Amino acid sequence: AKSAGQGQFAHYTTAIATETRDRTRLLQDLRMAFSHGLLFPHYQPQFDLKSGKVVGFEALLRWRTEEGQFIPPDRFIPVAEQSGLIVAMGAQVLNNALAALKTIHQAGFPGLRMAVNVSVMQMRQPNFVAMVQSALEASGVAPQELELEVTESVAALGMEVMVERLQTLRSTGIAIAIDDFGTGFSSLSYLDQLPADRVKIDRAFVNALDSGTGGRIADMIVPLGHKIGLKVLAEGVETEAQANILLELGCDEVQGYLYGRPMPLDALLDWLAKQPS
Ligand code: C2E
Ligand code: CA
Ligand code: CA
Ligand code: CA
Repeated sequence: AKSAGQGQFAHYTTAIATETRDRTRLLQDLRMAFSHGLLFPHYQPQFDLKSGKVVGFEALLRWRTEEGQFIPPDRFIPVAEQSGLIVAMGAQVLNNALAALKTIHQAGFPGLRMAVNVSVMQMRQPNFVAMVQSALEASGVAPQELELEVTESVAALGMEVMVERLQTLRSTGIAIAIDDFGTGFSSLSYLDQLPADRVKIDRAFVNALDSGTGGRIADMIVPLGHKIGLKVLAEGVETEAQANILLELGCDEVQGYLYGRPMPLDALLDWLAKQPS
């Protein structure tokens, strides 16, 4: 029994060593890719559900390898967060997304907004508010055309500081969206306390609408969001059935493969030109 136990232990430490090595390697590759400009966002359109019109976009970061493959953000965002690299990366995403929006406006599509994901690591930087404001100024985009997506996990950093930072940004006209609502260890009070304009229903709840597994969470989030004065956007909409239920529920906006996938800017401009006006 003893030798079996030792064997297991050896196996366990090897697994940890391998994982650590993989992480170290991944971080090295990520830093390299970042410095070589291989990280840039794609843009997924968002729509008004009733009219079907495009209202804006969400910037979603992509890592394009030298071989032309795309590594999804779920693979590298956690490493970027742990290492602190997310701070520089997030600032670059913001700059890229604002420049892209300017290009979109100038291409004949004014008034559309851009949503950018913000990690808690970024938000805890003392210069976060100043960073966002100077990025906006440099881009020439109006504050009303920028939305920042934050998750409820910001509350873990100290609700007061976060509320104050979001409030400052919001007072300049920037919109705030609460992302992935209901998926974390959240409290309803966060939804009430965080200064916001929009709440995003997570894909898992949207999927449940027509998968026979309930779908009652989305039923609740729509009226709840409206009650506290938020617009409600459902993400990950993939079927007409989901869209129809969301329309009945009074959901305001949608985003998902049914309407449009995340695209690089050039493809997005082509796509926009083909949209009915
Ligand atoms: P998220 O913010 O919840 O973004 C929505 C995710 O759902 C995106 O995955 C998007 O491509 C995907 N999606 C959209 N519509 C559909 C659909 O109809 N079906 C399915 N199956 N998926 C859909 P993506 O691009 O892989 O991003 C994953 C996560 O990585 C994001 O989740 C976000 O948390 C994080 N992320 C992406 N870009 C950034 C960034 O610039 N900064 C930070 N901090 N996080 C980012
Ligand atoms: Ca998001
Ligand atoms: Ca989300
Ligand atoms: Ca998510």
